[in-house]
Amino acid sequence: MGMTMSDKKEQIEKIPEREKPTFVDPPPGHTGAGFFATSMDQAIGLARKNSLWPLPFATSCCGIEFMSTMSSHYDLSRFGMERLSFSPRQSDLLMVMGTIAKKMAPVLREVYTQMAEPKWVLSMGACASSGGIFDSYSVLQGIDRVIPVDVYIPGCPPRPEQVIDGILKIQELAANESLRRRYSKEYEELLTKYKID
Ligand code: SF4
Repeated sequence: MGMTMSDKKEQIEKIPEREKPTFVDPPPGHTGAGFFATSMDQAIGLARKNSLWPLPFATSCCGIEFMSTMSSHYDLSRFGMERLSFSPRQSDLLMVMGTIAKKMAPVLREVYTQMAEPKWVLSMGACASSGGIFDSYSVLQGIDRVIPVDVYIPGCPPRPEQVIDGILKIQELAANESLRRRYSKEYEELLTKYKID
């Protein structure tokens, strides 16, 4: 005899907390016998949210903290993020971690412009967000001087829990972004402000 839904739930309850599989809640929609209907925005948002491909632009110590966030204890793959990409064209989340020298700013900008839309940017730590303690002639005082940033993570270095919090915020943005936002006037103005075509 097949298992009922409540049998399955009971079985899952018995699994130790750390080993439980990750379940993704469906987006808001309409259910009935044998069907579920939702909007295209919601369905695509759900897919994007749970399959972010990060490009780790790690230049110093914050990158080490990110390594710890990726490893088994914090296990970022729970968020569909096990596939790190070092190719801008195959990633949609730029994670900037560490001090960015002014000489490196054009490189960062180039990487950003090579990424396909839709894309999001996470600035991790004080250095990437504001130059941190390095208020000097050679250090960029925040990556938002050259590229738009979606989420900032404070700290020096931020703890893995903060990195996860930042990623959850990016996931929220990805899930709720309208499919048309990237063609909107507001988005075009934002890129024009940064002189990005
Ligand atoms: S914020 Fe702190 S830990 Fe992160 S790169 Fe800067 S100095 Fe290093």
